Amino acid sequence: MIQVDALIRTKRKTISISISPQGNVVVRAPQNCPMSYIETILKKREQWIILHKQRVLSRNNINQNLFTFREILFCGMTYTVSLSNSVKSPTLYGESFFIPFKTKPDRVPKVLEKWLRSCAESIIQQRLNYFANLMQLAPLGFRLGNTKSSWGSCSKSNIITINWRCVMLPPNLLDYVVVHELSHMLEFNHSHAFWEVVRSILPDVKYRKSELKKGDYLLELYRK
Ligand SMILES: [Zn+2]
Repeated sequence: MIQVDALIRTKRKTISISISPQGNVVVRAPQNCPMSYIETILKKREQWIILHKQRVLSRNNINQNLFTFREILFCGMTYTVSLSNSVKSPTLYGESFFIPFKTKPDRVPKVLEKWLRSCAESIIQQRLNYFANLMQLAPLGFRLGNTKSSWGSCSKSNIITINWRCVMLPPNLLDYVVVHELSHMLEFNHSHAFWEVVRSILPDVKYRKSELKKGDYLLELYRK
């Protein structure tokens, strides 16, 4: 039997089945549609669902353990989340991320998120300072962002926002996000001139851009 990750009932008249960017099976159905009928449809389309889900997961190289909070991604490295009696607060050690033994299972996502966020500001600020200095730019401000749709942005008034989830990315991709947004201070568009600015700092921008695209699913992490 196919496992449904989200069943959304709306005013629609038909059933639709789709696979979300992170590989979840999403079913949309009419308000009063009986479960038995939905199951019949799922059974009929089982092959398609399995194939499509596999395709999404392998294409995006998605790590499902991040969504079940068995693992945490930090600076491009994954660590196994383990409960430990010997830590009082979250601790990264070796290949593990230890959290206090008494942590209730439903609190784990929040604990991981809080720790990542606490690291984000200084790590991102440091890279921003480094590249701002290199490019001789002075952003008016820096904020941590939390949107689902972007890794970063630069406002017309030169305030740079970087999604805190960038702290999960490998350093070369965080640098790309930072340089991309700083470059908008010079070119407020995605013109040829803009990409020339980015390329002058990061010659392998094309590679970094395509790698970042593969990590877009991380923008969905730590949301309810
Ligand atoms: Zn841009």
